[in-house]
Amino acid sequence: MKKFLWWGMSFYLSMSLYTVAFAQSRLSTISFNQPLKYKIDYIDPRFHITKEQFIQIGQEAAGIWQKETGKTYFIYDPQAELTINLVFDDYQAVQNERKININKLLQQQEELREKNKAVLLSKQQIDQETALLHEAKEELNNRFEQYQKDVTLFNQGDNSKFKQADLIKRQAELTELSLKLKTKFSQHNNKIENLNAQIKQINQQQSLLSQSIKQFNLSTTASPETFHKGLFSQNQIQIYGFNSFDDLRLTLAHEFGHALGLKHTTDPKSLMYPRLKEQDIHNFKLTHADLDLLSSFYSSNNENH
Ligand SMILES: [Zn+2]
Repeated sequence: MKKFLWWGMSFYLSMSLYTVAFAQSRLSTISFNQPLKYKIDYIDPRFHITKEQFIQIGQEAAGIWQKETGKTYFIYDPQAELTINLVFDDYQAVQNERKININKLLQQQEELREKNKAVLLSKQQIDQETALLHEAKEELNNRFEQYQKDVTLFNQGDNSKFKQADLIKRQAELTELSLKLKTKFSQHNNKIENLNAQIKQINQQQSLLSQSIKQFNLSTTASPETFHKGLFSQNQIQIYGFNSFDDLRLTLAHEFGHALGLKHTTDPKSLMYPRLKEQDIHNFKLTHADLDLLSSFYSSNNENH
């Protein structure tokens, strides 16, 4: 009997979170005494987001500032001077390619899982057949032994129990059964060889996939901090890319903060931290660091007036 190859499959696709830097922005020249009016100006169609959706997200971003302070800082106004633009650049192109690649790798992984399942099932069937074939072989061996004993008795002259014609018939039967079993064993070994070839192929595919995943992870986590996805300057907020509406809302809220005149915080969970990474992007609330920044900015500006 041939032995099965051992195969081990390990799947890992670590999808590391994006660490993306907000661009440092220039100081605001906009008055802070009244709500800041903004409008949505340009949306690159490659973002696949409608103006209505973007306006909605803008209102939610403004809501982040209002919720914890009770103050209205931003108002949507189609006549506003401050414009918000969604500008498609390399960042979004890279993100789109990344998404396509992730889906491809996940699909390959799923295909390999299915193949592995099928192979495992075949192996179980083959194991059962192996057990049955061994039983049949055992039984045939027993019959051969009995036959040989009977032939010995016959040769010793015990003609009462056995007739020569019967013994010859039994021998022919046993020979035929033996040949049939041999054929079955040979077919069975072919099945095992085929299965081993499949396992080898799966292992090679898995190895290639693991390499692709490794390279993918390396290539996309190498220098993500070089990307800038938002920028405020003068009367413009430019957003260069986003991974989800949650991400877009928070990026915009961050740039809104710069539009108010705020700088950065050092608390990684705060909105005005220079990077979007540790913030609770689904259900974000301004942190103490954000509120402190806001109140110290306002008190220092009020002193100047
Ligand atoms: Zn910033």
